[in-house]
Amino acid sequence: MDQLLTGIHQFHTNVFQNEREFFETLVSGQHPSALFIGCSDSRVDPSIIMQAQPGELFVLRNAGNIVPSHGASNGGEPATIEYAVTALGVEDIIICGHSGCGAISAMLQPDSMKKLPLVRGWLSHAEATRLIVEENYSKYHGRELLEIAIREHVLVQIENLQTHPAVAVKLQRGELQLHAWIYQMETGEVHAYSTKDGGFAPLNGLAPHEASKRNVANPRKAPAQPARSRARKKS
Ligand code: ZN
Repeated sequence: MDQLLTGIHQFHTNVFQNEREFFETLVSGQHPSALFIGCSDSRVDPSIIMQAQPGELFVLRNAGNIVPSHGASNGGEPATIEYAVTALGVEDIIICGHSGCGAISAMLQPDSMKKLPLVRGWLSHAEATRLIVEENYSKYHGRELLEIAIREHVLVQIENLQTHPAVAVKLQRGELQLHAWIYQMETGEVHAYSTKDGGFAPLNGLAPHEASKRNVANPRKAPAQPARSRARKKS
């Protein structure tokens, strides 16, 4: 704790005082462009991974980067998502898992949570991931199985995210993009899912306009014509 308290002093003296003008611009309000949903793991810091400045990212972190489906939880997650999308108008939502995730590892071994009933309850929101892995990847074990589960889990959370009304409305209007990422702790790379090729690949080395194309295609984007008028044309 001493080190953290020393950090407060160092921040105020070395960072805040030197960048006072910038920090004062933040007082009037926030305009983040993206909502980042990640794991609480102390080694996964979104501001460092993306080199983001204060004010650029709205952040939601919990054990296992879980997004409960709409109506499944009264916790802070639904409210945070609604606020980011409707009040702040973020244009992108990133769900970012990470290699070696302890929460996903625990989910794969429920017995390890005997003394952690609240963790077990929280991870029950990821039951779909556990079942997908159990039913489809039975020949994999250990580290390999964990990395598969981490990838599947991020994609399940993307599906859960789309059940939230505020998200569904913006997706339908084409005003929101969803991103499924995995932060690789061993290499410092971020791998992103692309619906186009159906897999994860590194974003590192890609120009921003290319990297932004590695996203989750939007199934809810409004059709060229309203469904009803198309139906009338057919009849
Ligand atoms: Zn984790």
